[in-house]
Amino acid sequence: MPEMTSDIIIKDLVSMLGIKAVLHHDDDTAPFLSDWHSRYHGKAYAVALPETTDQVSALLAYADKHNIIVVPQGGNTGFMGGATPDASGHTILLSLRRMNKIRQIDKQNMSMTVEAGCILQTLQDSADDAGLYFPLNLAAKGSCTIGGNLGTNAGGLNVVRYGTTRQLTLGLEVVLMGGEVIELLSGLRKDNTGYDLKNLFIGSEGTLGVITAATMRLFPKPVARSTAFAEVRDVSAAVELLHRVQAASGGMVEAFELIPADILHVLFEYFPKIPQPLATIGAMNVLMEIGSTNPASNQVDGNGNTPIRQIMEDVLETAFEDGLVIDATIASSDAQRDALWDVRETAPESHKLAGKVARSDVALPQSAIADFYAEMVAGIKAIDPKIRICGYGHLGDGNLHFNLVQAAGGDPDFDAKTPKLYDLLYGNIAKYNGSISAEHGIGQLKRDQLAKVKSPAILNTMRSIKSALDPKNLMNPGKII
Ligand SMILES: Cc1cc2nc3c(=O)[nH]c(=O)nc-3n(C[C@H](O)[C@H](O)[C@H](O)COP(=O)(O)OP(=O)(O)OC[C@H]3O[C@@H](n4cnc5c(N)ncnc54)[C@H](O)[C@@H]3O)c2cc1C
Repeated sequence: MPEMTSDIIIKDLVSMLGIKAVLHHDDDTAPFLSDWHSRYHGKAYAVALPETTDQVSALLAYADKHNIIVVPQGGNTGFMGGATPDASGHTILLSLRRMNKIRQIDKQNMSMTVEAGCILQTLQDSADDAGLYFPLNLAAKGSCTIGGNLGTNAGGLNVVRYGTTRQLTLGLEVVLMGGEVIELLSGLRKDNTGYDLKNLFIGSEGTLGVITAATMRLFPKPVARSTAFAEVRDVSAAVELLHRVQAASGGMVEAFELIPADILHVLFEYFPKIPQPLATIGAMNVLMEIGSTNPASNQVDGNGNTPIRQIMEDVLETAFEDGLVIDATIASSDAQRDALWDVRETAPESHKLAGKVARSDVALPQSAIADFYAEMVAGIKAIDPKIRICGYGHLGDGNLHFNLVQAAGGDPDFDAKTPKLYDLLYGNIAKYNGSISAEHGIGQLKRDQLAKVKSPAILNTMRSIKSALDPKNLMNPGKII
């Protein structure tokens, strides 16, 4: 057997996949070899873009035979460096982007079967065209893929009502290192036939196999919505408001996002054209939305109100009287709704522009969020009172992105403070029985932290699963464990 040089590998990939499916010039491969935050930079023999499951299978058989690492990648929007190879260069970067077909929409089964490289927005649009609804929704929806969403078990804005990607998945098609295809593409809602392999691959960040297709649940389309932005007294008032809206609407809360003042200050610094939701910037705010699939919820009464808006108004009015809410606005048009959502959805981009940020993605029991938040604020102020405390996000499912943005104008000492900030954060997470990763995954960024917070029994079980499915450690090594 000839020595496997880069040239031989590229030639073999071209004969396996075709010339257009293999990128190896630096200009072409560069966007695939660093992550969204430009935090990690890797190397690869080539970027391979197969179009079919058979091609993925052939590629993984080849990689296994020649001991070549494979790193799967979707839209490359992940935050944990999970889709970036290491610097060794002994890697094929496997991009699923060209596997982007909708295979089937089964309206009666309320499901759709799609290839892994389909962009999330395409799933939403295709469901909408069929008169149905696919609820997974992230600010990266125009570029992330369903394969990446499955790889990370993505959450996003609507988890409070519909669950994470895991809960939206009925079936998967997966290719293992070595080329074996596991066909789990069931549209079944119940199936108790042995170990639940599907759920093993969801959230495995490309370390156990390559997801090539999935069957996802669809839902009736919400036809009426009410969206409000409210300044609240504090974090505990926000949690109380969430429970009140859930109760008043019969569980119709589609999204419930916490937005502290510093999120708005950073946002308007970099995106001054986004309209400010309220006349003044309050210390703590929420963006919330309820949705109904019943057209009667949208019928305008004599006062120009709809039943769904009335629910929102009633909750806000009582909460105002009880001192939970200080000020609020309810969107009266789609344009106003979009403007409110721009505030939330542009926040990650504004943090990218703001320079140095200590980022996190934590989960807590809802009962602990207010105390956790208060302890974090006190601890951060003791480290540096000028740090902008952007602890925001999916309060509806107890998930906060506790981002700490360097002081306005820059801070040359921020890097030195970062370990103290993370010690504070992880100390409080442990104290309140939280999780170090709610929805972004582990990747390479949190690998060392995972090893600190999980017991040896859990870590050993994870390692046993990994070595059973990938004994040579060729599937995305260096991620998770
Ligand atoms: C502006 C912005 C907002 C975001 N908001 C959210 C949010 O609200 N909630 C949230 O959860 N995330 C959010 N993210 C993070 C990111 O979008 C998600 O992690 C998303 O699921 C990644 O999808 P991707 O296709 O880009 O995957 P990639 O980044 O390409 O890959 C992510 C991981 O999945 C693996 N992978 C990719 N494809 C496959 C496959 N076919 N088979 C097996 N493994 C695979 C990769 O190896 C890697 O480990 C946001 C990102 C941005 C940029």
